[in-house]
Amino acid sequence: MKLYEYEGKELFKKMGIPVPRGMMITSAAAAAEAAAQLGSEVVIKSQILQGGRGKAGGIKFAATPEAAREAAAAILGSQLKAETVSKLLVEEKLAIARELYLAITIDPVKASPLIMASAAGGMDIEEVARETPEKIVRETVPIFRGLMPFQARRIAYRLGLEGKDANNFTDILLKLYRVFRSFDAELAEINPLVVTGDGKMVAADAKVNIYDGALFRQKDFVKGPERYDNEREYRAAQYGLGYVKLDGNIGVLCTGAGLTMTVLDLINYYGGKPANFLEFGGATYKNSYYAMQLVLEDPDVKVILINTFGLVARADVISQGLAQAIKELKPPQPIIASIRGTGEEEAREILRKEVGLEPYANVEEAVRAAVKLAGG
Ligand code: GDP
Ligand code: MN
Repeated sequence: MKLYEYEGKELFKKMGIPVPRGMMITSAAAAAEAAAQLGSEVVIKSQILQGGRGKAGGIKFAATPEAAREAAAAILGSQLKAETVSKLLVEEKLAIARELYLAITIDPVKASPLIMASAAGGMDIEEVARETPEKIVRETVPIFRGLMPFQARRIAYRLGLEGKDANNFTDILLKLYRVFRSFDAELAEINPLVVTGDGKMVAADAKVNIYDGALFRQKDFVKGPERYDNEREYRAAQYGLGYVKLDGNIGVLCTGAGLTMTVLDLINYYGGKPANFLEFGGATYKNSYYAMQLVLEDPDVKVILINTFGLVARADVISQGLAQAIKELKPPQPIIASIRGTGEEEAREILRKEVGLEPYANVEEAVRAAVKLAGG
């Protein structure tokens, strides 16, 4: 779950990472008021969930409350990187002397937190990573030991920081690691981490992503509909289902992400195109009824393709839900299914008896049949 910058900065503040003084507002009048209260030049920052706002025109500066009002009025309600801007962060404008980059994420190979830091921070960090990767320092952290002060300090020195800058950086990195661990983040990034004209170090931006699998224990974060690409994805998530809209015409219902990916590959291999995919594996296999409903809502679906291969996810329970959905929703589209896994005999029997559906013997045959019916 991606957090907005202002939410990320609240977490930073909680942990003692310096952030600019500022407030989140939703109207032009409030922007003027905020600027007056801050009593300085301000930066007005669009709160959207994607990065690269600076380059896309989503960050503006204002020297007076009146200019802040005008800038806010111009951004509020506008489209920025396919998101509508409804919230702005108004902050004191920092006098920037240097821009550093600091992030903690997960190294999937080492299964450890990974610190990435660079003295060449700012808006061109992607270019730095591409063209001069040696300018990015990378170190993993043994997760059971945690980040030790000596390691944080070593990274500061590897960036070429000295004296007060090295101390500030070490302190911020240790605190950022605490943010990363205590909120189950999969990304905690500060870009730019600013050294101001008067020698302070301040997080000028905040990008924090919370791991969705930990939201059950991170009760302060509620993943509302605005955090999803579309409304159907949001509703799918309420049932623990993964829904992704694609641009073809075969509606795909699968158990497990691995099988889903394989089926998508097979569809492409045989010349078809998936309209979407809906994954109802793991503990959510009992929600196959809702899975079917969601796939049927997609107007692009010409053929429905169901594949299960479950051990824990019982095929008979899945089939019961599917049969119920088919009886109630009466999909006009042809349905192709391959049902494997625990209880598959009963599962096939249920589909045969209750809705007259004869499952295919294996995934590949089912995919071929679906592609053919879809006209591929
Ligand atoms: P992003 O482009 O979405 O990552 O947004 P950022 O918050 O990183 O802002 C983009 C750029 O705006 C930064 O790299 C800075 O160069 C500039 N910027 C942001 N805040 C300030 C500020 O307080 N003072 C100054 N001078 N520049 C700022
Ligand atoms: Mn940034």
